[in-house]
Amino acid sequence: MGISSTNPATGEVVREFVPLSAAEVELKLERAVATFETYRHSPFDQRAAGLRATADLLEARQQELAQTMSLEMGKLLRAGVAEVEKCALLCRFYADHGEAFLADVPVQTEATRSFVRYQPLGPVLAVMPWNFPFWQVFRFAAPALMAGNVGLLKHASNVPQCALAIESILLEAGFPEGAFQTLLIGSDQVAGVIADQRVVAATLTGSEAAGISLAKAAGQVLKPTLLELGGSDAFVVTEQANLELAIAQATLGRLQNNGQTCIAAKRFILLEAIATPFLQGLVANFEALTIGDPLEAGTDLGPLATPGILQELEHQVQVCVDQGAKVWLGGDRASLQATLPLRLQGGNFYPATLLSDLPPGCPAYQEEFFGPVALVFRVQSLDEAIALANATSFGLGASAWTEDLQEQERCIQELEAGAVFINCLVKSDPRLPFGGIKRSGYGRELGVEGIRAFMNAKTAWVN
Ligand code: NAP
Repeated sequence: MGISSTNPATGEVVREFVPLSAAEVELKLERAVATFETYRHSPFDQRAAGLRATADLLEARQQELAQTMSLEMGKLLRAGVAEVEKCALLCRFYADHGEAFLADVPVQTEATRSFVRYQPLGPVLAVMPWNFPFWQVFRFAAPALMAGNVGLLKHASNVPQCALAIESILLEAGFPEGAFQTLLIGSDQVAGVIADQRVVAATLTGSEAAGISLAKAAGQVLKPTLLELGGSDAFVVTEQANLELAIAQATLGRLQNNGQTCIAAKRFILLEAIATPFLQGLVANFEALTIGDPLEAGTDLGPLATPGILQELEHQVQVCVDQGAKVWLGGDRASLQATLPLRLQGGNFYPATLLSDLPPGCPAYQEEFFGPVALVFRVQSLDEAIALANATSFGLGASAWTEDLQEQERCIQELEAGAVFINCLVKSDPRLPFGGIKRSGYGRELGVEGIRAFMNAKTAWVN
């Protein structure tokens, strides 16, 4: 796939970009390492001022930036505005707390004085996905810049204008040239950048396949990595749930970002007693959606980001149906397409779909469905619900819906995931660490853990 902006609502290619040549990449690496030599010594106040200026610029341009996201990857305009606002919040969070997070940590030993000091490592490569084209990048960039590292961004090939906009905002906010650079390169150029001795570490948010490839390349040159990969998160609802709240949040959780969120509720695991009213509520909400152009204010569900994502989702649903799954609604792309205005008929639209009675062994049990498809499982007990929730190779974030304190505690203790949210959708929050276990990846972004991710935790011992 080349590097280009293609409107997912229409299929129209808006702009194409030529990938950087080896010589152009070399120049950027040289600039990164030269900038790091001075930037690492810059005072925290100066870095914090850069992040605050970044937050101001993001807020001032939120409409324009949200529009770029919609045009490149199909996000609803209002969701894009919310994403930009969240990035501003994140920048201010690290501006306010970064210095304290990185202060020396005294440790009592038999030394006169012993402590841990956090020092930046150098240029870090960030390989990022298109689904939250600003948030995913800022989640890396804000703590990295506050910590004194410098960043090199290889963004997904379908969001080059988002990638360039981020670079230009950080520059305009006062960060030195070379502190954060976008590399317009294909994924085949990533291993070469990691192998370069000037690059000290790499982080990737994306699919398992990409994570494996990056970790392999980094392993060969012994460089640290952080991986934020896929999820097939459980949404467990017991008899003790506030059902109305659970249904409303299930709708939002499954459909936000047009169903393409790593932490989206994907597998709905329902205790038998509440399964039928829950299903009826979800069907009613899905039926009421307006599908269409993400730039239009009345749209609830936009297109998928690329034709590839659409084909994969359609295939996964078809396999489940062929194996005997029950379709409550959706599942038929052709019928939806025929109802769309002509100019949207080349877009990557897929209907909100709800499947239940999923036969064991079908893709719904193990694979991530990256689109507006809810997979519903009925179980007889909380034991069975937890066992099913954990019976996946992923472990990113699970939610459980119950007012019962004992059930809440069991879910927190027993669900295998990087996060468990009770009576709330799983979300990322600058104040809390974010990341997965099992094949959802390793390492943590955000919070105090996030800013220490690419630091040398240097032990100091003084007698
Ligand atoms: P993807 O295909 O893995 O792409 C992600 C990034 O990796 C892109 O920049 C892509 O570049 C690059 N890439 C792909 N193959 C690569 C390779 N072999 N070597 C090096 N880089 C490579 O993933 P996606 O389809 O865009 O994103 C969806 C996936 O991301 C889902 O599984 C989702 O759950 C996951 N995700 C996880 C989180 C989290 O925080 N855990 C957050 C968001 C998304 P090109 O575009 O040039 O191929």
